[in-house]
Amino acid sequence: MHVKNLVVGAGYAGATIARRLAEEKNESVLVVEKHDHIAGHAHDRYDANGVLIHEYGPHIFHTTDKAVWDFLSRFTEWHHYQHRVLSYVDGMLVPLPISADTVNQLYNLDLSAEEVESWLASKAEKVPEIRNSEDVVVSKAGRDIYEKFFKQYTYKQWELYPDQLSPDVIKRIPVRSNRDTRYFTDRYQALPKQGYTEMFRRMLDHPRIQVLLHADWFDLKKEIRFDRMFFTGPVDRYFDYREGHIRYRSVHFEYETLYGREFFQPVGTVNYPNDYDFTRITEYKHLTGQKLTDRTTIAREYSSAEGEPFYIVPSAPNLTLARRYADLAAVERNTTFVGRLAESRYYNMDQVVARVLGLSL
Ligand code: UDP
Repeated sequence: MHVKNLVVGAGYAGATIARRLAEEKNESVLVVEKHDHIAGHAHDRYDANGVLIHEYGPHIFHTTDKAVWDFLSRFTEWHHYQHRVLSYVDGMLVPLPISADTVNQLYNLDLSAEEVESWLASKAEKVPEIRNSEDVVVSKAGRDIYEKFFKQYTYKQWELYPDQLSPDVIKRIPVRSNRDTRYFTDRYQALPKQGYTEMFRRMLDHPRIQVLLHADWFDLKKEIRFDRMFFTGPVDRYFDYREGHIRYRSVHFEYETLYGREFFQPVGTVNYPNDYDFTRITEYKHLTGQKLTDRTTIAREYSSAEGEPFYIVPSAPNLTLARRYADLAAVERNTTFVGRLAESRYYNMDQVVARVLGLSL
């Protein structure tokens, strides 16, 4: 079999590139996807109790990039939603990211935003150079906050302490002195009204796009020839692990449906940095806005080295290895590597779309 364009993976990278090729270049595209569903790790579905869940963990779409927002808005209406996260610390549920409210609640204070700013400055440690994720927090909020909110959560998530991880990891979570308790502050924040999978279905619904599910490229390699390939899977597997295995983290979910109650917890996600073995609990109805008064489904997340890759571990040796693969990828003929696993980047959903919209076809 010979195809003009082969896209490996039907997640954000694959679906966006397929749509662009079909629409802007009028070219035919074959998308092969090893799972039995589209939408990659943004895939959502109704569980046996009729509750809409995200199969691979909570996905809250947020962006400041209007081009990305406009592109996706062609394929979905939106359920506008501002995510809020509480962290279970010292037996209290306090807002995360750190904000004036977090400081006031945790330390039983009644400070204004300006006073919180000075309070944080008085706790902050002088760090001459920010070299890792520990430096990021202690230089802004001091050691007590670092230890209560970040140190053990990070260990649960990565099996590494923050001092062994690139600063970018914890930079994802700002330290604020104001009273904004939202998890994200991007201008556009929402979930697709009919779900992520439906948004992807529409994106891929084009006469020049064909999607093959249950089709692992590594099993089909010998059977499909192409002029051009866009590969969105793990880069180390593509190169047959010739430089070694990149370290990834996977997540296992423990679901529970509770009956006779509308909600389990006050917000979409509660983080557990110091207690239990799970990192966080997400209650999907908060995110999706689904109206069900008599039941709710929650998911506890357990991070693990085993299982399908979700995250690349952003430690120095692992990033060095990833760069070696990136060098190989850069000279691979007729093949473009895009997305979290193919580029070993901790992309958010919108960043993947932005990356693909920026490709010259
Ligand atoms: N993090 C933490 N404590 C928290 C939340 C996050 O230490 O309560 C750190 C942790 O290292 C985590 C990183 O910040 O991996 C990024 O968190 P984010 O919520 O962005 O992770 P994601 O939703 O991508 O898993």
